[in-house]
Amino acid sequence: MDTKYIFVTGGVVSSLGKGIISSSLACLLKARGMRVTIQKFDPYINIDPGTLNPYEHGECYVTVDGHEADLDLGHYERFTNVPTTRANNVTTGRIYQSVIDKERRGDYLGKTVQIIPHVTDEIKRNVKLLGNTGNFDYVITEIGGTVGDIESLPYLEAVRQLRWELGQNALCIHLTYVPYISAAKELKTKPTQHSVKQLQEVGIQPDILVLRTEHEIPVDMRKKIAQFCNVSPDAVIQSPDVPSIYKVPLTMHAQHLDEIVLRKTGLPVEGEPDMAPWLHFLDRMDHAEETVTIGLVGKYVELQDAYKSINEALFQAATYNDRKLNLVYVHSEKLNEGNVEEKLSGMDGVIIAPGFGHRGIDGKFVALKWCREHDIPTFGICLGMQCMVIEFARDVLGLADANSTEMEPNTPHNVIDLMEDQKSVTAKGGTMRLGAYDCVLAPGSRAAEAYGATEVKERHRHRFEFNNDYREQFEAAGMKCVGENPDTHLVEVVEIPGHRWFIGTQYHPEYSSTVLSPNPIFLDFIKAAIAYKHDKQK
Ligand code: GLN
Repeated sequence: MDTKYIFVTGGVVSSLGKGIISSSLACLLKARGMRVTIQKFDPYINIDPGTLNPYEHGECYVTVDGHEADLDLGHYERFTNVPTTRANNVTTGRIYQSVIDKERRGDYLGKTVQIIPHVTDEIKRNVKLLGNTGNFDYVITEIGGTVGDIESLPYLEAVRQLRWELGQNALCIHLTYVPYISAAKELKTKPTQHSVKQLQEVGIQPDILVLRTEHEIPVDMRKKIAQFCNVSPDAVIQSPDVPSIYKVPLTMHAQHLDEIVLRKTGLPVEGEPDMAPWLHFLDRMDHAEETVTIGLVGKYVELQDAYKSINEALFQAATYNDRKLNLVYVHSEKLNEGNVEEKLSGMDGVIIAPGFGHRGIDGKFVALKWCREHDIPTFGICLGMQCMVIEFARDVLGLADANSTEMEPNTPHNVIDLMEDQKSVTAKGGTMRLGAYDCVLAPGSRAAEAYGATEVKERHRHRFEFNNDYREQFEAAGMKCVGENPDTHLVEVVEIPGHRWFIGTQYHPEYSSTVLSPNPIFLDFIKAAIAYKHDKQK
């Protein structure tokens, strides 16, 4: 079977959730036995989002093969359970870099290098890269940004050409917004009409419209939109706000999005998608009554998307433990010895977030000391684990000036230090320890118990590491290094046995947690938090 290409564009406003719609469609197609992948094209000039501040685009996601990626790739993996790679996220920066490299090598044989055809050809080559592996029946390509943006134009031109070349093997879904004017009590279709016109102006006729809305859009109105936009009425689908993003596949299926896609790409529509495992998850989500309260200590707590994968991993773990997740953000910069009790005493478990640099670091130490001394289930991730080590060194080992050389390059007790192979690195982009690495867990450790395994593989994104010179000292005082990379002996997991649950991971287990395959260490952390909650109630 030829690979089918589905392009997803957006109009009217940004943040409509193209990633969720793409993921939901992929989820449905996968449940119909199709092999599906999703890729995202981002129109910015950064080579990848690795150098972006979380205030720009939220969390930086990391793929198994060590690519720093847009957070939508996290949704793709959570909804499809299929790992993504470097090829699933391409930016304008990468496209131009590749074109310029080719020009320098002389590949263009003396031609003038131009946006059309050279940049658009490079975009097209990247669109087809995943399809050409033969591993996928459907490649869904999400075009970042909004129709009408100057920077999206080369992508739309590439989509126009591909639609023409691929015929029935390609289709375009356009996502728009139908605003509700509360003063007039009316839904307005005009922005959608204008947005589709803008697409048509660049030569793209959408096959399917998905309308984001906060109110039910009446059939007549959908018919009107179909008529004005040259789209068949059954292919105008509404996507109202739902209480959980994980319900969007159901809303889409109820309006036959998967069937329409199969039909329009020339495939037979047979039977129903097998959504049983997904429905099982939703059922547990809907029936969870008791809550589990987790405090997330970090410096980006005012930003919804900065800790996206952690939020989702916690939510999945809570759901599989039949609990509602009550996630409380605790601003690390505002946390001090005077208020820590008030801020954290209501928590059943505490997460110390990943991060970079000084800001908020002291609040993390205060939180960790309090949690350690009060035996609260505590989970440190990446910088959070490094803070666990530093706090333990200061307070238990008596090394008052222990630090990470990231925070204090001249610290006499560099319990966290730059990795050896990082010392010569000067460029910032894509140079951290990135992607999945093996980790061997000590038999009998809580971490090994949580995973039910002694060999795991998790994703990394860091430059600093636990300094093995101090290992014996830590272990003698009760903080054990229970996870280690078998090749480099880098410490990947620390824990304090005897505590309810006090574990730090140098890696980011949140990246590999999906709806159908929640991460075991998150599941175990939530289990410990629930047990602690019950202990408190006794
Ligand atoms: N800043 C730390 C390092 O580079 C931790 C990074 C992180 O939390 N992702 O090692």
